[in-house]
Amino acid sequence: MISEKALRNYADVILRVGVNIQTDQKLIINASVDHKDFVRLLVERAYNLGAGEVFVVWNDTYVTRQKLLKASEEVIKNIYDWEVAMAKSFLENGAASISLVGSYADVLSDVPAQRLGIYTRARQVAFREVMERTMKNKNRWCVAGVPNPEWARKVYGEEDIGRLWNDILFMARVDENGYDELLKHLERLKRRKDILNSENFEALKYEGPGMDLTVQLAPKHLWLSGIENDENGVPFLPNIPTEEVFTAPYKYGVNGVVYSSMPLVYQGNVIENFWVKFQDGKVVDFDAGKGKEVLKELLATDDGASYLGEVALVDTSSPIYKLGRIFYNTLYDENAAAHFAFGRAYPTCVREFNGDFEQAGLNNSLTHVDFMVGNPSMNVYGLKNGTKVPLILNGKWVI
Ligand code: ZN
Ligand code: ZN
Repeated sequence: MISEKALRNYADVILRVGVNIQTDQKLIINASVDHKDFVRLLVERAYNLGAGEVFVVWNDTYVTRQKLLKASEEVIKNIYDWEVAMAKSFLENGAASISLVGSYADVLSDVPAQRLGIYTRARQVAFREVMERTMKNKNRWCVAGVPNPEWARKVYGEEDIGRLWNDILFMARVDENGYDELLKHLERLKRRKDILNSENFEALKYEGPGMDLTVQLAPKHLWLSGIENDENGVPFLPNIPTEEVFTAPYKYGVNGVVYSSMPLVYQGNVIENFWVKFQDGKVVDFDAGKGKEVLKELLATDDGASYLGEVALVDTSSPIYKLGRIFYNTLYDENAAAHFAFGRAYPTCVREFNGDFEQAGLNNSLTHVDFMVGNPSMNVYGLKNGTKVPLILNGKWVI
């Protein structure tokens, strides 16, 4: 079994490095009822570290499933004002926000994609302002994984929670002794980010089996990785684990074909072996070995859902890649391989953003969904003034 000490280090890294909790700061935690033991530990550590107030918003995918299967469409798309107001009142008062995530890949698999789509869109519209606050780093936030029984069963074929905890801590680079390895890793990511920012490439070229894609970068793009700063310049780590160095593509500058290298779990449904073809930024054709209808729903969320909003480089030295497993959770799977995201770009990925996505060359959408393309045969080059600089060769960073 996993030791109390290792779990405490994980709670501390989420609080101290993740949201960088400050004395008397409010903290809001979103968690599943399956995470209650870890939530209790996290709340205890948060107050010990000086948090002023900790508020937990519980969720349960099984309860949601019943509503999605049996309630009327009116009920499914109704989001109460007080739900949104509650989240807003915390964030407007400077709260930090932690989301603990598990995986419920199969729990929603019998909910019709169209009903799931209605529900998701309604929440996205209602919580738009809340999402914008976090995407603009107005509040410090952190997403981290915590095991649930279905997740363990999905990954290993048995409900081995201890094993899943071990893998989660391994991927986070946290153990009984602390989290020094994570801090060293964050330094390496920062070095690569700094190189990419000083090179200021015009585009990236992706080559490999089933992959021939040119991705122009947004004119004033900025590469980010690991540690980010909130609007007051206070550092925080939005994702644990994190392996990516990422930026925003130019909305209309993506051309070519790319194949997924891993299944994409979207709202509990699995989309597998799919490819997408881009022309001037927009998806003009696609197919999937499995889950094509779900992919179609995703791309039809709104106009921006069929354009890219993120380009992220990850190499094969990632501990998630080394484990060689699908975790059925984007937080982990996106850190196994280089990826893109359909939908909304992070405004923090461009310099001098004035609120106008179109003018900045950025895509805007209600959705943001990552999908993996990286593999051990992939080469990525930076293009500038007719030169082609290798960044990743055979899946590995060369800078
Ligand atoms: Zn990403
Ligand atoms: Zn993303």
